Amino acid sequence: MSADQFGGTAPGPGRESDREGQLDRTEVTTPEMVGDEAPTDFSLRPERLEDFVGQAKVKESLSVYIQAALGRGEALDHTLFYGPPGLGKTTLALLLAHELGVNIKLTSGPVLEKPGDLAGLLTNLAPRDILFIDEIHRLRPVIEEFLYPAMEDYRIEIRLGDGPRVETFSMKLERFTLVGATTRFGLLTAPMRARFGVVERLGFYPTDELCEIVLRSAGLLEIPITPDGASEIARRSRGTPRIANRLLRRVRDFAEVRSDGTIDADTAVQGLTLLNVDEYGLDEMDGRVLRAIIETFDGGPVGLNSLAVAVGEDAGTLEEVYEPYLIQNGYLQRTSRGRTATKKAYERFGYSLPTPESPQGALFGDAG
Ligand code: ADP
Repeated sequence: MSADQFGGTAPGPGRESDREGQLDRTEVTTPEMVGDEAPTDFSLRPERLEDFVGQAKVKESLSVYIQAALGRGEALDHTLFYGPPGLGKTTLALLLAHELGVNIKLTSGPVLEKPGDLAGLLTNLAPRDILFIDEIHRLRPVIEEFLYPAMEDYRIEIRLGDGPRVETFSMKLERFTLVGATTRFGLLTAPMRARFGVVERLGFYPTDELCEIVLRSAGLLEIPITPDGASEIARRSRGTPRIANRLLRRVRDFAEVRSDGTIDADTAVQGLTLLNVDEYGLDEMDGRVLRAIIETFDGGPVGLNSLAVAVGEDAGTLEEVYEPYLIQNGYLQRTSRGRTATKKAYERFGYSLPTPESPQGALFGDAG
């Protein structure tokens, strides 16, 4: 299954090339999949729960559910993973299948066009198998309706014919587990949410955990790296394992060409600088958001919709995919009146702070 079939991975509009016009600035740090990073690329995916770095709470719950399901010989409850892209939702789904010793079929919301597409997948599942639906918030309503009885009663309603002569019959399914993943929890319908017994949120990874991921990946790819080198890469990975792995591969190329192939702190810094990777871990869209607040809206407060229009991104994506990282890292604040840029954001982009007399001056207290 190609990455495209899997649900589209093309970076959104607004790509920017770097100064030399060599590298696509967006592609280096986007949390979405790019190029050959197919969802079924198993080389770096941990297969066992114990190898999955971080997300301690999620891991702890999953290990209990896995043991319980194995103990009873039953299918795992339907499970939903949500959180920004690149944090390990697909990895966890594959890992669940491995831990439970069952097969998994992968599909995604936008790929399923008609109930027949889903029926084909569902009827081929063996007992306890997993069906993984990525981007489950993008299921068409007609598919969602079709899925409800499958999730609840393990049966589907097949309609034959059209108009008044339509005949429906019910078909039994094996007891399976649906694993859904979404970056947009807010877009899931209430009946859909209610049908998941297990709901787990994945958050951004702290630098030390990303560092562990980089070291683990370097080991698997046989890339010589020092802890300091790994740490440099980790710091700039926007809290996202997918970006950490991508930067590791790019810096390896640099290290092989420019030095003896070992990634130490110096080579990492030089390689990442050449790649134009922001030393604060911000990606291109993060930069656009913060610059828009500062330049177009005088630092804010600005409403979500106006901001979305200014940066050419969907408001929901902005709120659920981009803002959490910026807020967590102190670049953006959500206030009752809208979004504001923080002092840290002004400093990061080299803007002088608003004067104390301006409405924004009040935000920073001693600014000016
Ligand atoms: P998502 O489905 O949330 O977009 P993926 O599961 O595709 O993210 O993960 C992206 C990449 O990051 C995978 O190649 C995987 O190897 C790596 N990865 C994600 N989470 C972890 C983790 N906790 N430990 C190690 N590697 C991880």
